[in-house]
Amino acid sequence: MATIFAEQALLPEGWADAVRITVGADGTIAAVEPGATPQDAERAAGPVVPGMPNLHSHAFQRAMAGLAERAGPEEDSFWTWREAMYRCVATLQPEHVHAIARQLYVEMLKAGYTSVAEFHYLHKDPAGHPYADPAEMAHRVGAAAEDTGIGLVLLPVLYRHGGFGGQSPGEGQRRFTLTPDAYLDLLDAVAPHVATGIAFHSLRAVSGDDMAAVLAGVDPARPVHIHVAEQRREVEDCRAWSGATPIDWLFDHVEVTARWCLVHATHAGEGELARMAASGAVAGLCPTTEANLGDGMFPARRFVELGGRFGVGSDSHVTVSPSDELRWLEYGRRLIEERRNRLFSPTRPSVGGFLWDAALAGGAAALGLPAGRIAAGSRADLVVLDGAHPLLAGRRGDAVLDRWLFAGDARMVRDVMAGGVWRVRDGRHAGEEAAARGFVEAMRALAA
Ligand code: ZN
Repeated sequence: MATIFAEQALLPEGWADAVRITVGADGTIAAVEPGATPQDAERAAGPVVPGMPNLHSHAFQRAMAGLAERAGPEEDSFWTWREAMYRCVATLQPEHVHAIARQLYVEMLKAGYTSVAEFHYLHKDPAGHPYADPAEMAHRVGAAAEDTGIGLVLLPVLYRHGGFGGQSPGEGQRRFTLTPDAYLDLLDAVAPHVATGIAFHSLRAVSGDDMAAVLAGVDPARPVHIHVAEQRREVEDCRAWSGATPIDWLFDHVEVTARWCLVHATHAGEGELARMAASGAVAGLCPTTEANLGDGMFPARRFVELGGRFGVGSDSHVTVSPSDELRWLEYGRRLIEERRNRLFSPTRPSVGGFLWDAALAGGAAALGLPAGRIAAGSRADLVVLDGAHPLLAGRRGDAVLDRWLFAGDARMVRDVMAGGVWRVRDGRHAGEEAAARGFVEAMRALAA
């Protein structure tokens, strides 16, 4: 049992002063009392906000972050990046994946992410054979989360085909592919150890029958994630194959509900945005990766007007920071529309306040976790911003979030509690040296 006293904290009903937060031994918040006295509580060193769920991660890709920024002989695109990613994948051993994910999850916690949905498709050995334990790689990701204390929702990914219409997978995809039966076995093997959801790589990689076979075999309450409409070529290929765009095809063939997360719905048109918003599905947005890959910009402002839900993910991990993702989400709209302050609501004119709260709600829904709220019964995921930071001096309420998201960075994050345990104290994670050593060793081995 821990009790924290915050001069100001962001609660579901808005900012409140003098808040006592009691954390239970089960890692959830037991009580929240605004207008309280500090008594014997630990005083937070600055404003307290809920930690951010990271709704989309491919942990292994941190190994190649920033290493695909050299122009090649042909026009570079998502598709040439994907070839570089396949070359990286070909060399990874289970111990590398463990070390990479552990370092990454430390960085996530230090930046203010307190849980992560790991979209995990690296299932097999370099030759494309299952490991002796087919859940080997999934367990390595689980162990990395355990080492660091981040809340993990593991999304084993069904990846079966190399393109629309059941094309054969290519050489670079052989470590990813599973049949629906093998997929369900994998899910059964990991479910006793970690929180799980379901993921379909994309409509390029699974058929309607594959999806139906999996959805019929799993708990209907679990979250379901899929990549859709990330690239214009993907949309065109889907049209050529089916006559419909990927998002329309999905809604026409599968019951998409509020438990779905549509990742990179970048090229959604007006009708597709309306279908997504009406379904309650969360748009999974990864603006820094989408920028890095030259994907395009999701029409977030229109989606918000339609009442759509969204959250953010660090995806390929070119940056590991929820403030960067949200800043780029807003800046993308500003650059396209040549206007300021694009994402807000009539009741929440602060862009920083609106973005943080909306991404908390969307992220928690996408992970299927009671998280993203400083309220009794929610996971005790807290970010204490540095009240001694010069830019936060004298700032109250949403001005704190505006400062952090638009003028600050991860160094404003001072203390982070995930699942009721302080994991970052004064900007440091207790396991950061060990994690960095393991990562360096893995990088050297992979470079050699
Ligand atoms: Zn992805």
